[in-house]
Amino acid sequence: MSSFPLIVDVKRHSLEDGPGIRSVVFFKGCPLRCVFCHNYEAQSSEVEIAFSAKDCIKCGRCKEVCPQGAIDLELPGRIHRERCIRCGKCASVCPGRGLRLIGSYYSVESLTEILLRDLPFYRHSGGGVTLSGGECTIYPDYLETLLKSLKASGIHVVLETSGYFDYDVFKQKMLPYIDLIYYDIKIANMEAHRRYIGKPNQKILENFRRLLREKGVKVHPRTPLVPGITATKENLSAIVDFLCDAGADNVSLLPYNPMGIEMAVNLGRPRPPLPMGFMKPDEEREVYDMFKTIIEERGRRWKRVLEPASA
Ligand code: SF4
Ligand code: SF4
Repeated sequence: MSSFPLIVDVKRHSLEDGPGIRSVVFFKGCPLRCVFCHNYEAQSSEVEIAFSAKDCIKCGRCKEVCPQGAIDLELPGRIHRERCIRCGKCASVCPGRGLRLIGSYYSVESLTEILLRDLPFYRHSGGGVTLSGGECTIYPDYLETLLKSLKASGIHVVLETSGYFDYDVFKQKMLPYIDLIYYDIKIANMEAHRRYIGKPNQKILENFRRLLREKGVKVHPRTPLVPGITATKENLSAIVDFLCDAGADNVSLLPYNPMGIEMAVNLGRPRPPLPMGFMKPDEEREVYDMFKTIIEERGRRWKRVLEPASA
């Protein structure tokens, strides 16, 4: 057991998740359980084993090394999860990506060393580092040390959050070192939020209001589009009402991403009841136009409403 947080991945040279060329750190662990999560592997704060049937050649090496007798080559999900102790031996002998151990520990020093490798790219492109997840704010002490060390090197930092954090801790340990916050506002109705996300939303909405009242803090709200759940007129209208009331003047609509469905299954979870395909460009356009109309009906002229790229 390590005192460091688990990290799913460090994605270098990313052109997403903030301005310029970035390194994105995906922390493992989240207090929420969105049914439409597109990073299922980042929900649990423990090491996990993922099995991908399409990448398995049935060589049987995993079965030979498993100390628990947990592997059955005839089982569609390959692993008797109730026997598995997540030791990772099977993944270490798998010749492809049939089995993968998800989650690695990094000290702040080793993570900083990796992130600093791309300093010239950050400087030339106006990029930097994005802290993502999961919900990275669940590791406040680690983040405080990491953020201080990134700031000491003059690195631009974006933090992506669900907003489900202790505000005072966030303000003291993280906020002073963050340049831009991407803040998810997914569902406005509390009961629907509880149903689809697993927790009520008062804390998320209140934290957003408080952040907007802070001086010099850049907060960019984002709403992921999920057909039938978040991308409804009722939800988007309520979100616009909330954002207007909180004093926001910009928002991004994030295209629906069904990639999480396969990962949920690979981790041995039930298949989430979601559409399997991406939204078609005309469907996204329809939602975007509806969203713009909702804003205009309220007499608002927002600085920025980012539409999905394909709309
Ligand atoms: S992680 Fe370990 S216990 Fe689990 S299936 Fe693989 S080898 Fe067996
Ligand atoms: S080691 Fe990998 S490829 Fe071989 S049977 Fe196991 S999961 Fe499939």
